[in-house]
Amino acid sequence: MAKNKGLFEGLIAELSRLPGVGRKSAQRLVFALMSLPEERAKRLGQAIIDARTSLQPCQRCHNATSQPLCEICDNPRRDSSRILVVEDPGALVQIERSGGYRGLYHVLGGVLSPLDADHANAPGLASLRQRLAQSDGEVKEVILATSPTLEGEATALFVTREIRSYGVEITRIAYGLPVGMELEFADEVSLIKSIEGRRII
Ligand SMILES: [Zn+2]
Repeated sequence: MAKNKGLFEGLIAELSRLPGVGRKSAQRLVFALMSLPEERAKRLGQAIIDARTSLQPCQRCHNATSQPLCEICDNPRRDSSRILVVEDPGALVQIERSGGYRGLYHVLGGVLSPLDADHANAPGLASLRQRLAQSDGEVKEVILATSPTLEGEATALFVTREIRSYGVEITRIAYGLPVGMELEFADEVSLIKSIEGRRII
């Protein structure tokens, strides 16, 4: 019994270390895993091991890939005049799922703090500067798509300052309201930002 409890608690502890997974969610996941057919549980375990051993950051944009270049960087049909900067690969996956963007990406690997001098040398930022320096005029626009949080805003400002000298157009994604939301339920900040970001129709 003690051993069973140890396995159960151990798995909950491991899962709840993952970002966005609290103890309650971890518990629910463990119960869901327990009810999986053994074959599926094995496939899941193997998929985690395979991903962990073969995925690495893309040499150009830091997206997760099993090749030196990710399939976006390696796709000649993508628009190489645009680089969209995100905090992490999760944001990239989400934008790709929308299907509305055909340019390239750059993953910073987290938010940057202007107060921390070391961040000027953060690997994600250093490699973005290098990409721009070597682009030979091919890159025309860098789109800053960091989160609309305090840290995301600070990161966007910081990146802007660091890449301004490369002569590319620097844009920031618009703030808006979620599609399908009724205005009376929107928070004040989103509402004001959506008015500031209005466009001519
Ligand atoms: Zn890439």
